[in-house]
Amino acid sequence: MFKHSCCADSRPSLPLHRLRIFATVVATSLAINSAHGWGGEHSRITAMAVEALPPVQRAVIAPEAAVMARVYCGFPDVNWACYGEWGGGNADPSLPRLPDLRREWEVSFYCGSDPALQKGKHYPHQAPQSLEAVAVHFGKTVEALQAGRLADGARFAGVMFHYIQDSGSFPHIMPIHRAFHVRNSDAIRIVGYEPQQLGNTPAEAAAALTARVRKLVDWTEQRLAPLLAEAGVSLDEAKRLTLNEQLPAAVTQAVAKLRAEKPADYEAAALACANECARACADALHTALAFAPRPWPPPAANRPDINLVFNPSFEIGDGDRVPEGWYIGWLDLRDRTGRAEWYRTGTHWDKPVRTGQRSALLLWTPPAGLEWRQTWRRAVPVNAGETYRAAVWVKARAATGSTWLALQFSDTAYEPVSVAKSAVVTTDCDWKKISVETVVPSNARWLRAILHTEANSGALWFDDVEIMRTRSIK
Ligand SMILES: [Zn+2]
Repeated sequence: MFKHSCCADSRPSLPLHRLRIFATVVATSLAINSAHGWGGEHSRITAMAVEALPPVQRAVIAPEAAVMARVYCGFPDVNWACYGEWGGGNADPSLPRLPDLRREWEVSFYCGSDPALQKGKHYPHQAPQSLEAVAVHFGKTVEALQAGRLADGARFAGVMFHYIQDSGSFPHIMPIHRAFHVRNSDAIRIVGYEPQQLGNTPAEAAAALTARVRKLVDWTEQRLAPLLAEAGVSLDEAKRLTLNEQLPAAVTQAVAKLRAEKPADYEAAALACANECARACADALHTALAFAPRPWPPPAANRPDINLVFNPSFEIGDGDRVPEGWYIGWLDLRDRTGRAEWYRTGTHWDKPVRTGQRSALLLWTPPAGLEWRQTWRRAVPVNAGETYRAAVWVKARAATGSTWLALQFSDTAYEPVSVAKSAVVTTDCDWKKISVETVVPSNARWLRAILHTEANSGALWFDDVEIMRTRSIK
């Protein structure tokens, strides 16, 4: 992982194992790929840092805590253009497509760099660049929290955590980093640690946090230095050799010797470093939350009778093949035919858009289905008992399968709770409105519109999506 996560100019070689982070809940130990740096440790360190917060702060971050550990702290490792592409990340035509995690979570927005459009600033995962990334994302975390945007704050904090955690895992000495793991993730814990407030203004705190992470790097070096010296290479020598070469033989051999002869000592050092990462993360989040409104405002209700969908007519986009606020959900990752296109007038003589210049197209879809879905950043926050009505205009040509609009409810962990479906379109039609009305179930927090079609050898265009809170429950 480190190969692609921490080196600025390299590209992913095998990102599949990284998906495990996203499929695994906190505190389960992950199978570790020994060729890479922190994997499941990211999740565990994040969870322990959040647990170390004072109770009032823990209550504020609680709705986002699980997903911070499961997803957000992994953002910088999935900010690659191969997500959503065919070929398993490796351009191997026999491998399934990678699900588009990057767009689903708008990872590039939260990381501040877009690998597909080559926009923004990419930060390598090691010091000193990682220190700058920490300070920048600390600032964004504070800004979001001050504005009452908890989910955004937690996502920026997840990126900040990742850079803190990578900084403490020897990314600057690759032979160590690649084999630096805590096999039993549950051993990572900082019970009793009291997070430190790092400054009285956001700017002062960002500077102090930079110094704090610099100290973290020094701390990890001093922790491992005596062991490395016993194995035949001094730490300074190891740093010097890895300046010009990723895997210098002398250092690789010393690490191999150390791991073979003193495995327990080596693993204890990795555990100590992971715990120090957790302390630094706790300090960072504790400090960011100190600038949040107190008391934290309770969730607000959406105003009724206004369209809550971002980019409902698909007109806005940055040119990277999908409209902003939407992404493609492939329900069959091995399908080689289906297409989801951000359709624009002028593509054909005919103009299958209802309003504006754009629509969303699904074409030649497999039996399992193909979808346009709202990204999590643009999901609508909802409260139990509220009523919502949603609608979309559909145009079907040479339709063979089934097409509908779904309202998907998810809980605070972003896990699906229930789905409400509109009437199903099975035959050709010119622009036709399909809709659905439903009550928010008790444990739901998020609502997303999903435009679905399956087993369709024809073409389906969607335009002008609407989600409105209605005034009363009948
Ligand atoms: Zn990384």
